[in-house]
Amino acid sequence: MKKLREETVPYNTGWAGELKKGQVIRISGTTTVDFVAFSIQNLRERFDQARTKVYNMKIFISAGDKLMSKSNQHLMTIVEDTYREGTHDLQKGTCSGYRFQLAKQEGRLREYYHRDFKDEEIPDHGCWENLSQALKPYGIAPEDIPSPFNLYQTMKIDGVTGRMEHTAIRPRPGTYVDLKAETDLLVAFSACPDLPVGGKPVGVAIYEP
Ligand SMILES: [Zn+2]
Repeated sequence: MKKLREETVPYNTGWAGELKKGQVIRISGTTTVDFVAFSIQNLRERFDQARTKVYNMKIFISAGDKLMSKSNQHLMTIVEDTYREGTHDLQKGTCSGYRFQLAKQEGRLREYYHRDFKDEEIPDHGCWENLSQALKPYGIAPEDIPSPFNLYQTMKIDGVTGRMEHTAIRPRPGTYVDLKAETDLLVAFSACPDLPVGGKPVGVAIYEP
């Protein structure tokens, strides 16, 4: 594959870019990355967590699985996934400044994130704000950003009760996921502040097949 572009996206910021059909985006990370995709022909046609889970008939997706849109179109295929230690998440929405403050007010920071925080450690923004900012130039309103595909966010889910827990399981350095565009796309992601473990910068590269 020929590399067309490569960047490092700083901790707790967002990134957006366009992919032509057949191009591959490689996202390298050691902490959570909230990823979304839209059809460039119709930006209202966007990634959908529920359609993706049902199409693949599972809640954890990996190499060979597809990302589906709201009207059941193939948006992307995961062509490679080197994350072996854990799984990616399709349950959660985005974190946000408001979300962190709500958890603090309700005294639930430890329940959600498994550790205590000093006030200055609580970020004033998160993936919601990062994705909103990154997608603003494309005219996408924050409320039209779908709940993301949360790469490297390993959740423990009880299959009987449905109870979900965050874990601190994250990838080793050098881990990446390759996603191939099945149509022309606008894609965006946020390098999550990832409160359970502390966010890190995220690598992104685009390849021509
Ligand atoms: Zn986040």
